[in-house]
Amino acid sequence: MLRMLIIGPPGCGKGTQADRLSRHLGITGVSTGDVFREHVKNLTPLGRDVKAHLDGGDLVPDGLTNRMVRDRLDQDDVRDGFLLDGYPRNTSQLAELDTMLTAIGQSLDVALQLTADDTELVRRVLQRATLTGRSDDTEDVIRHRLRLYYRETEPVAAMYSARGILLSVDGMGSEDEVFDQLLAALRESFPSAVPD
Ligand code: ADP
Repeated sequence: MLRMLIIGPPGCGKGTQADRLSRHLGITGVSTGDVFREHVKNLTPLGRDVKAHLDGGDLVPDGLTNRMVRDRLDQDDVRDGFLLDGYPRNTSQLAELDTMLTAIGQSLDVALQLTADDTELVRRVLQRATLTGRSDDTEDVIRHRLRLYYRETEPVAAMYSARGILLSVDGMGSEDEVFDQLLAALRESFPSAVPD
């Protein structure tokens, strides 16, 4: 049973790998981007509040994001492990996650980081845009999201690295190669938690 999260720049394949990993490991996946997009689609009050931030590639304000994650981590299906995708995205969210987990007597086992180069990322996201029609997959917005990632989210990875719980994997291979590397990295640290 693992409590973990995955960090990576837009377009690195983090969402796809997170889905595969949570299924393989038998833990609940929680993607903050997916939850926000679902709210926008369903025109909920939260959806109305976050839509402009998503469309502009900006971070949703911490207050809204932290509350949403706290409610989610209160539910039963994350009691036996979870994989957070997209949170924390800045150091203040990291501190908030620490507080939430301490309050329920839990702690994080591992933070996975996917690395990638910028040119390839922009190419991948533009390609995805033709398939998904995501409103934040235009070139200007991607470059903005990338800048935000380096400014706000890389320091999160650095803090987990300083705690000794960061595992970094190169995200530039094929989907299967990256998945295998992630499993191999996890297996080294948590042999009994990772099935074949
Ligand atoms: P990507 O990693 O490709 O940017 P995500 O699905 O993780 O895609 O996130 C999409 C958008 O959802 C972000 O650009 C942001 O607007 C919002 N979002 C997701 N997670 C967070 C978070 N932890 N804090 C603030 N905003 C978030």
